[in-house]
Amino acid sequence: MDFKDFELIYKNNRHEIKDKQKIKSNLSEILGDNNFSDSEIDIFAYTKDSTMIGYNWTLEGKIAGLADFIIWPENKNQIIKILHLANSEEIPVIPYAEGSGVVGGAIPIRGGIIIDMKKFNQILKINEKDLTVTVQSGINGMNLERALNHKGYTCGNIPQSVQMSSVGGWTAHKAAGQFSTKYGKIEDIILGMEIILPQGDIINFNPIVRKATGPQLDKLFIGNEGTLGIVTEVTLRIWPYPEKRALLSYAFHTFEDSLEAVRQILREQIYPAVVRIYDKDETKRHFLHMEKANDKVMVVFVCEGNERLVNLEEEITREKCEQNSGVDCGVHPVEHWFETRFRVTETSATPKMQITFDTIEVASSWENAAKMYHHVLDSVKKLKGVILFTAHVSHFYPNGVGMYFTFGGVETGEETNFDFYQKVWNATMEAVVASGGSIAHHHGIGINRARWMGVEWGKSMKIMKEFKKILDPQNILNPGKVYENIWHEGVD
Ligand SMILES: Cc1cc2nc3c(=O)[nH]c(=O)nc-3n(C[C@H](O)[C@H](O)[C@H](O)COP(=O)(O)OP(=O)(O)OC[C@H]3O[C@@H](n4cnc5c(N)ncnc54)[C@H](O)[C@@H]3O)c2cc1C
Repeated sequence: MDFKDFELIYKNNRHEIKDKQKIKSNLSEILGDNNFSDSEIDIFAYTKDSTMIGYNWTLEGKIAGLADFIIWPENKNQIIKILHLANSEEIPVIPYAEGSGVVGGAIPIRGGIIIDMKKFNQILKINEKDLTVTVQSGINGMNLERALNHKGYTCGNIPQSVQMSSVGGWTAHKAAGQFSTKYGKIEDIILGMEIILPQGDIINFNPIVRKATGPQLDKLFIGNEGTLGIVTEVTLRIWPYPEKRALLSYAFHTFEDSLEAVRQILREQIYPAVVRIYDKDETKRHFLHMEKANDKVMVVFVCEGNERLVNLEEEITREKCEQNSGVDCGVHPVEHWFETRFRVTETSATPKMQITFDTIEVASSWENAAKMYHHVLDSVKKLKGVILFTAHVSHFYPNGVGMYFTFGGVETGEETNFDFYQKVWNATMEAVVASGGSIAHHHGIGINRARWMGVEWGKSMKIMKEFKKILDPQNILNPGKVYENIWHEGVD
């Protein structure tokens, strides 16, 4: 099948470049002939990111967005010149890293130039005294972690997608890794950044631990999703590679008991690197072969770091689990988690079975966590077509949690798979909002969640849009995302 046979979903407001030949020769001048492409195969490769419904669309012969050019700049000067060109010609520019985003953030829904950051892949400096690493933003997460491990360090940000995501993508989508309860989320790990603004100016945020120099402008760019600037360099905190790892697991009778045990652990200022609470249905998905987990809520812990501290963390973790009726399940469930933690076969297997599958991560205070969990479950499980709906909690703070729902199902009656998808997302978001939670914990907004941004931000949404206008008056940087609700355009 030729890619032109695919139906383009977001076509109505696509920017049409009037003189493509002229832009092509401009790109050639700026980048040389090897760093850009408008070949069909390249354009097709960048029609989607890892948004799950995108896999169903591909199988149905649909594509979400169609860029005009893909470019691979090698230095900042080239990026600046590209932004000048884009502003003068009013062409959209979409930063693209590894395309592992799951909310459509990197899809070129307005056409234009995809600026792939993969050639920005260098480690610039490891500072062993300050415990920092400075990298170019396009570096692959696993390449960075391996290089750090080799020198006896870890950066502590290990998302499930670490093998297929970049530091720039983490920064732009505000990522959280599997070891986040100890090392923090990406906003805790980033110390400094270099950003190229939409009109081509470079700004730097020095990697100094703290500054009382007015409002923290740097925070505006963490989670900016490629709409306010292009991240070119990032300085991250690093840590000595853990001396010891203790693997623990406990099975609980109820979701509430497991939450309470973990809340009490964190209250003692004990931060296991990994804590994962699987609700009963998700425990079945992952630990069916373990008798002790039968009809239970499984919780796995990894405590790591200095040996003496790890011993104490282990002792207190065990004490709190046992005080909340947890049953010790040994190291095996944690070893099983280590073996399978990057396995996501459902993502590619389910669309072929015409199943619509996705995950939704949200956040809550401790006070509302169990209430939110039950409210979401009650709202979604009663929907027609749902065949799977499970949850785990995998990011913890002394003041709340990040919760992660997984669903699978089939459209019924007159519904399309998009209707079904919407139905589950809507029910989840409504239940989260009604329970006082936040609509997103670490996947970001992109195009999928933009329709709830008004609900989440209220009057502040207007200020966010003003910021966007000030920094990007021509709206060239990743248009149609975060601040605009375009999700339904062209989708039927
Ligand atoms: C199987 C799987 C597991 C996942 N697990 C996790 C997880 O554990 N934790 C987690 O947080 N996320 C997870 N994700 C989501 C995804 O990996 C993250 O959102 C990741 O941060 C995206 O990085 P990327 O480099 O692939 O960025 P992309 O998908 O290429 O881009 C994401 C967004 O960032 C923008 N962007 C990219 N680079 C730059 C830059 N240099 N400057 C400005 N903007 C830029 C893009 O325009 C886009 O809006 C997972 C995804 C998959 C498919």
